[in-house]
Amino acid sequence: MKELATELDRLRGENLLRTRTLLSSAQQIEPVINGHKVLSFCSNDYLGLANHPRVIDAYVHAAKRFGVGSGASHLITGHHESHHALEEELSEFLGCERTLLFSTGYMANLGLISALTDRETCLFEDRLNHASLIDAAVLARARLKRYAHRDTHALAQALKAAGEADKFIASDGVFSMDGTVAPVDALQDLAQAHDARLVLDDAHGIGVLGAQGKGCTEGRHAVDTVLVGTLGKAFGVFGAFVGARTEVIEWCVQRARSYIYTTALPASVAEAARTALHLIIEEAWRRETLREHVEYFRDCATQTGIPLTDSETPIQPVVLGEATAALKVSRELLDEGLLVQAIRPPTVPKDQARLRITFCATHNRTHIDRLVECLARSCAESAARPQPAVGD
Ligand SMILES: *Cc1c(COP(=O)(O)O)cnc(C)c1O
Repeated sequence: MKELATELDRLRGENLLRTRTLLSSAQQIEPVINGHKVLSFCSNDYLGLANHPRVIDAYVHAAKRFGVGSGASHLITGHHESHHALEEELSEFLGCERTLLFSTGYMANLGLISALTDRETCLFEDRLNHASLIDAAVLARARLKRYAHRDTHALAQALKAAGEADKFIASDGVFSMDGTVAPVDALQDLAQAHDARLVLDDAHGIGVLGAQGKGCTEGRHAVDTVLVGTLGKAFGVFGAFVGARTEVIEWCVQRARSYIYTTALPASVAEAARTALHLIIEEAWRRETLREHVEYFRDCATQTGIPLTDSETPIQPVVLGEATAALKVSRELLDEGLLVQAIRPPTVPKDQARLRITFCATHNRTHIDRLVECLARSCAESAARPQPAVGD
């Protein structure tokens, strides 16, 4: 048996032990964490809807009418009119034939991919795909083939090499730890040319990208692309969905085990998500403000020597290398009242530990100025610090 205490000590020694901060306020840009009010730059509540009065009202009102628990899975007696209405509204919004709700994005990916692939399927995945897409491949026992990040040339070669095999491509839409966007046009072309099914998991794009918030496929013909979205990020609520052609959705109802063998979301959560969707559609200013924040941050960061990547989405990583370095800067920021989590391996590749900064529509320029000032100071000190020699 593995000595877990020893393993935990090892993680602690390598600065890889994960701990949880304790939230005692609502999810907002100035939450109370571990008893202190901080300014947060690490929530995925991009549009500031998690604590929006209209979303809360929809939730409370539905809970009073329908109770808090759905009581059963969708296929037994858990499928409520509220779920159904949300599915139809999502289909219309995204231009999908049908939409199917799942309890989480993680479960959506597991269910979808294991339902649509088998041991004979060649499953092509971007190397930086979200963990749920990788885990789905393992669960499906598919022949997983990973290609370099956004490298459509490598993907084309691999597709060709797969010949007549059943082929399936899965990619994040917006990459969760990098903020980069998938080459959607090229992926769609390759899928069509090689008779492969394409899944885009746009958990960080839907609600955020595109003038109308439809995500990385906005303005593209996407009925043949299977879309995965979450209701836990820009929607500010909880749950997830798959949008696709009718036969794909119907097959998931028959075969996606993470859909079939689990309790349906509460109807009140679906009602809250419906209101969040209305806000996503009606209040384009939230996306516009978010875009301005990203631009403003990138301008200020460039001027002050903060190392940026080429991400243009609200996910702005500052890659610092060693886990220790990322953790140190994150702690220094926390001392200044700023919450920016350090992301370490195995979530990101070794030597690419980073701060993952995310912006919300509810931030303002004063918040961003404070972030830039503290970050510039901390990064400069971190760069000036002598690096320990190899082997230390
Ligand atoms: C967050 C995320 C998920 C998981 O969604 P949940 O609803 O939080 O389970 C799936 N895919 C990607 C790309 C994500 O970033």
